[in-house]
Amino acid sequence: MTRRAARGAAAGVARRVALAGLDVEYSLVRARRRTIGIEVDLDGLTVRAPRWVPIREIEAALKERARWIAKSLDAWRGRRRESLPREWRSGATILHRGVDLTLAVHCSADASVRADLFHLTVSHPLADDESQVARCVGAWLRDEAMRLVAPRVTHFAARLGRATPPVRLSGARSEWGSCNHRGEIRLNWRLAQLPPALADYVIAHEVAHLAQLNHSPGFWATVELLLPGHAALRRELREFTALLHA
Ligand SMILES: [Zn+2]
Repeated sequence: MTRRAARGAAAGVARRVALAGLDVEYSLVRARRRTIGIEVDLDGLTVRAPRWVPIREIEAALKERARWIAKSLDAWRGRRRESLPREWRSGATILHRGVDLTLAVHCSADASVRADLFHLTVSHPLADDESQVARCVGAWLRDEAMRLVAPRVTHFAARLGRATPPVRLSGARSEWGSCNHRGEIRLNWRLAQLPPALADYVIAHEVAHLAQLNHSPGFWATVELLLPGHAALRRELREFTALLHA
């Protein structure tokens, strides 16, 4: 999955503008183009403009489309998910395998983390220290990710008649997974937070790259072979992209 990484490279300058009484943040990308382009995508509001267009002209263009922008930003916020709690205290929610669990933090002599259907129970000697709790859950999520993805990598590789490739976890902000020309797969630890079917799509995608290191029709046919109906999962995954940035 390299497309998003490439897009992330064109990062803009964060600016603010008052639109219809709202303080709206946008990212301004100065680009080699003739017109001002306005779009709301998974990263929020982005404006692309030629270098020579002054800010007041850019903001006038934004004001002209204020209603459309407000509507699109509302939809964008609705899709956005918080991956980790802002406060690591009992009652906060945390996404685990596609389900929002309620954090329950207790003081105890030994540190441990346990998930059930509704709660993520954290026991820790320093239960009041949010950074300690955060670190403890972070480590647990990475273990959990490896425990979940490893058998799936083996499963999909076997379907291609291949041995299990080397797998490492990543914390990349731009992609769920990657595969290099040496056949090494990296998978984002945040896969432990996705609904299992979506994590499966990411894993099948990267394993399919063992056969073809491109996004040709043949590649997508391999993904489909590994995971029939993958296109719907791929679409659904887009709604979770904000998790990578959170
Ligand atoms: Zn790919």
